[in-house]
Amino acid sequence: MYALINERFSTFRTFTHVNALSCENIAGNVILSTPPWATSLPNVDSSLSLSISKETSPKTVIVLFKDHISANYEERTEIYTDGSKTETGCGYSVYVPAQNISIACPLPRILSIFSVELIAIKHALLWVRQSQVTTKVAIFSDSLSALDAIKHSGLYHTALVNEIIELNHQLRTAEITISFVWVPGHSGIRGNESADQLARAGAANTHIRRNHAIPLADVRSYLLKSCKDEWDRIYQSTDTGRAYKDLRPSVHDRLSEVDTRLGNSILLRLRTTHCRLNHHLNKIGCIDSQLCEACGIEETVEHYLMNCRKYRYQRERLRRHAESKNVNFDMRTLLTDPQVLRYVVEYVRSTRGIL
Ligand SMILES: [Zn+2]
Repeated sequence: MYALINERFSTFRTFTHVNALSCENIAGNVILSTPPWATSLPNVDSSLSLSISKETSPKTVIVLFKDHISANYEERTEIYTDGSKTETGCGYSVYVPAQNISIACPLPRILSIFSVELIAIKHALLWVRQSQVTTKVAIFSDSLSALDAIKHSGLYHTALVNEIIELNHQLRTAEITISFVWVPGHSGIRGNESADQLARAGAANTHIRRNHAIPLADVRSYLLKSCKDEWDRIYQSTDTGRAYKDLRPSVHDRLSEVDTRLGNSILLRLRTTHCRLNHHLNKIGCIDSQLCEACGIEETVEHYLMNCRKYRYQRERLRRHAESKNVNFDMRTLLTDPQVLRYVVEYVRSTRGIL
């Protein structure tokens, strides 16, 4: 399966001339060397996140953090990790203040920030394994989602999480105890700030090793985004569908829908103007006149919705619904505001039945 995905992946790269991936492999799963029931459970501590919120002042955050460390993690080797993803690159860091170790490495930009944070933690463990550290270790990360994935590793069958579980187990077997601890980010905590700067420096470095394994989920997200970007480029460069484009300037924008297939079909016809109104029927050569039989002027979507004298009564009802929702009564609002879309469908059903 991975061979197939790799093949499709390289086809996609050729197709889009995208060579910015800087990676060669999609990460396969990592099978634990010991059965799950015999593997040491990681010790994850994110308890500080319960007493700290965005409103907590930096000064209080620092006091709470220091108290937490002195109560639980004194005499541990402290390691700070961080990940950074910017417009131009990705990087991770490992910082060990007591030993003056500063590691800052660039990573392919295709990686999600979640993966980058996990890679930073993995490299902290690799550093512990090859270092002379023989005591207890506290690895600090400001990524709650990464710590959560390690804590609930049974739910995350990803290569990175399994590698971390495997390394943690190896170290535990060697009687080195690791605690994975949440540290509040961007709060002025010295170790975290240093790791943050290092990760940014890593992200700014353009010399990326080309053999990084990329998690399948990140490849999938990247391909979806790249396809959508390519679709948007084509969408923007063509001159057709102007009415629809006025409502949806980019394919990245989403237009709201109603909860029935027929209703959405009606909305699409109104939005594209491709419907059985005389203006369009004349345009595609089905009838001779584009005029409204009742009003003698072009029977466009705007005329039909906003002005046609045939549907005064139904329009008044639609207007009352719009007023009750406190929204404007104009074309753009009627075709895009989720609060009135179902009433627009009702208007069509009560006037023409279907368009
Ligand atoms: Zn009319």
